[in-house]
Amino acid sequence: MSFDYDLFVIGGGSGGVRAARIAAGEYGARVALAEEYRMGGTCVIRGCVPKKLMVYASSVPTMAEEARGYGWSTEVGRFDWQAFRAKLEAELNRLEAIYRKGQTGAGVTVHDQRATVIGPHEVRLADGTEISAKHILVAVGDVPFVPEFEGREHVLTSNDMFKLDALPRRLLIVGGGYIAVEFACIMEGLGVQVTVWNRSPLMRYFDRECADLVTEQMQARGIATRIGVTVDRVRKTAEGLAVTGGESTETFDAVLYATGRVPNTKGLGLDAAGIKLAVNGAVMVDDWSQTNVPSIYAVGDVTDRIALTPVAIREGHAFADTVFGARPRRMDHDLVPSAVFTRPEFGTCGLTEEIARAQEEIEVYATSFRPMRSSFAGSPDKVLMKLVVSKATRKVLGCHIVAPDAGEMIQLAAIAMKMGATKEQFDATCAVHPTMAEELVTLRKPVR
Ligand code: NDP
Repeated sequence: MSFDYDLFVIGGGSGGVRAARIAAGEYGARVALAEEYRMGGTCVIRGCVPKKLMVYASSVPTMAEEARGYGWSTEVGRFDWQAFRAKLEAELNRLEAIYRKGQTGAGVTVHDQRATVIGPHEVRLADGTEISAKHILVAVGDVPFVPEFEGREHVLTSNDMFKLDALPRRLLIVGGGYIAVEFACIMEGLGVQVTVWNRSPLMRYFDRECADLVTEQMQARGIATRIGVTVDRVRKTAEGLAVTGGESTETFDAVLYATGRVPNTKGLGLDAAGIKLAVNGAVMVDDWSQTNVPSIYAVGDVTDRIALTPVAIREGHAFADTVFGARPRRMDHDLVPSAVFTRPEFGTCGLTEEIARAQEEIEVYATSFRPMRSSFAGSPDKVLMKLVVSKATRKVLGCHIVAPDAGEMIQLAAIAMKMGATKEQFDATCAVHPTMAEELVTLRKPVR
């Protein structure tokens, strides 16, 4: 049977573009890709990249504060959101063009429209064109989830945050995961009065001690937090958005919902094509990212495994190697490090103290201190370095860091952990002095 293409990729985000580029560019497959919005997907267009640039923008007042602590006379002046937003848009246009060129340069045919699955080897584009392919890769990502309540049409999601006409004066953020706490710190840094409401403690799935320290420092910067509350309704009034949760009502200029994301499979034709979906709409795949329909694969957030860009990229690459490169490879989802870009940052890899303790006997090594840099500047900021160690094997099961640039540190600690390093091997590594990270190799006695 002959097909129009060897591979048709639906979705031009991190996982899709990597799979398409490797399949076409390295293995010579005939590949087409459809993207209904902008090339680059969530990470590049409305996620990691613009978020990190906003993190940089929002950290300037802290840098100025620190500069004064070091003897400089400096004022930051006024933040010009419009100027920043225009520059951000130009940067995203530049990156989008690079992503597009990466595809066309590798020989991938790009369709700038929505595609839906109509059979095991067939897709239909929004303009009605039907295309056949030996393999189909679903890489459509996920979308923000907003629960049902009265007035939900008034709230924003993370998609809207990069395109605001103006910064709100008072912002309520609902949620307590990555997106909620990152935007809380960004917006506070940009001068917005921020309140966070969540039904449970912030960063519930993270190491508790670390999550608590990040929360404390957010509060110390003036971010108000209210835990154990859900929103009953949002009403538009002359003063702003009146938000009612439980007994109380407070008024804000904007409300950001960051209550998780759901797989973007609605209307994609997957169930009609016989593909098994989970209750939340995620495409169910095996270790090879293959669905129950053998010609159809899925990678990235749409599979609801680990919703992180580097994971989607690796899943897409492993798929291309396996199917087109005759190099069978599975993505290893164990010990995936990540960072939450709060202020200070929070880097994490492996098991939390709570989960490790439920599994086996452990020792916990931890130290919390005011680092030299902020201490000299007169800032009360604290850092926390923590290792969770197996008593039986001595392996470092978890490493958690709350500190400036913790994202950079955890990347390196994760290499050692991936190699199966023991606590004694951490200790055998000579310290780099004076740094914060040296504490990871000088933790002598367990604290618990
Ligand atoms: P998360 O799953 O991290 O957090 C969702 C939050 O919303 C939780 O606090 C949860 O509470 C709360 N919540 C969920 N459902 C409801 C509901 N019905 N009513 C009220 N509250 C609710 O989702 P995010 O949206 O923050 O992020 C999505 C994903 O994106 C992350 O999991 C992560 O994989 C990825 N991401 C990664 C980043 C990074 O690597 N730096 C940055 C941003 C996103 P509870 O704790 O009680 O469940």
